[in-house]
Amino acid sequence: MRRDVYTADHEAFRELARGFIAKEVVPHYADWEHDGRIPRETFARMGELGLLGTAIPEEYGGGGVRDYRYNAVLQEEAYRALVTLGTVRTQIDVILPYFLEYANDEQRGRWFPGLAGGTLLTAIAMTEPGTGSDLAGIRTTAVRDGDEYIINGAKTFITGGLLADLVIVVARTGTDPDNRRKGLSLIVVEHGTPGFTKGRVLDKLGCKVQDTVELAFTDVRVPVTNRLGQEGEAFSYLGHNLAQERITVAVGSVAQAHSAIAATVEYVKGRKAFGRPVADFQNTKFELAAMSAEVEAAQTMIDRAVLDLVDSELSAPDAARVKLFCTETQARVVDRCLQLFGGYGYMLEYPIARLYADARVARIYAGTSEVMKTIIAKSLGLNG
Ligand SMILES: Cc1cc2nc3c(=O)[nH]c(=O)nc-3n(C[C@H](O)[C@H](O)[C@H](O)COP(=O)(O)OP(=O)(O)OC[C@H]3O[C@@H](n4cnc5c(N)ncnc54)[C@H](O)[C@@H]3O)c2cc1C
Repeated sequence: MRRDVYTADHEAFRELARGFIAKEVVPHYADWEHDGRIPRETFARMGELGLLGTAIPEEYGGGGVRDYRYNAVLQEEAYRALVTLGTVRTQIDVILPYFLEYANDEQRGRWFPGLAGGTLLTAIAMTEPGTGSDLAGIRTTAVRDGDEYIINGAKTFITGGLLADLVIVVARTGTDPDNRRKGLSLIVVEHGTPGFTKGRVLDKLGCKVQDTVELAFTDVRVPVTNRLGQEGEAFSYLGHNLAQERITVAVGSVAQAHSAIAATVEYVKGRKAFGRPVADFQNTKFELAAMSAEVEAAQTMIDRAVLDLVDSELSAPDAARVKLFCTETQARVVDRCLQLFGGYGYMLEYPIARLYADARVARIYAGTSEVMKTIIAKSLGLNG
């Protein structure tokens, strides 16, 4: 169906992204999956090409255009080529907005050139072994001592944590007995700071190209000048930025669902059963036709949400609706596509198996489907 999200500038960016992915990602992707990471040099190369810093002001080496559609294009192109740029996506879609919104001039000078150039890699550490969905329950502490914070605690499931030079740590700097959401702060911890250790790289079901690690903080001293934004206000910052994070997951889900259908259409034309191409069975045609309609519906929904996000009009409940619908659609579609591959669909050498494994987490991270329903229900006046 016709899409009216992108302009000629976005399409030019798409060409650049498509060429880069074809030449510099696809040929190496299997190795990266095996290593469990995208190499640092690839970030630097993307920085050089201007793929990472479109939103960073020009004075720091960026493109100076804050327009989420460039991020969406990059994801769409990766999924079209049946690869994912997991840690890149986390860096520019999820983490960069915190720097853009809350870094002061001194911090911008310190960090923005490296973020635009792809020489500074980042992670965000919200989740802890004891708390994920309930972010107000964060227990990592940052206690003020003169012009430093002393951080103690543990984080888990941190995307890109292994190679990160800068980790935005969500830590408790205070408590308010009347409001458990108060008292959280964002503190940037640099790799190599004494007491900050990167622990196990977790072995995941899918998303093999991105590392997911545990982080530990034992009496880690960080200058107060590394705090992003106001002390104690991080919960509202998270609430604000999570809308974009959820749209990012949804953009990926819809793009992956399209790719699943395309890969399946190709496969069923070539595979024969009972002397006929699998594509000839009415069930195959009906399944793919129905899935195509579902994915177009999801595409229309996400396109609307992307435009609302660009206009700063996207509400938290709408971001939740879109994430819920698009990720659940992806799950249904990828599962049904895999079915049409038969036993080959279960083999990791076929892209549908990877799409299936990668898809599972979309209903969990950036807020689970159940948490999305909670947010939506509240917006319907169903509190309590
Ligand atoms: C691959 C991967 C990458 C990740 N990357 C990052 C990262 O970079 N940084 C980061 O900080 N975190 C990251 N996460 C963590 C992710 O955001 C959390 O896993 C997610 O928010 C869920 O939290 P949890 O795992 O603690 O589950 P829990 O909160 O323990 O939830 C368990 C179950 O209870 C349900 N549940 C919880 N609360 C409610 C409720 N109120 N009503 C109904 N049901 C409820 C959940 O929906 C879920 O089904 C990542 C996770 C994964 C798997």
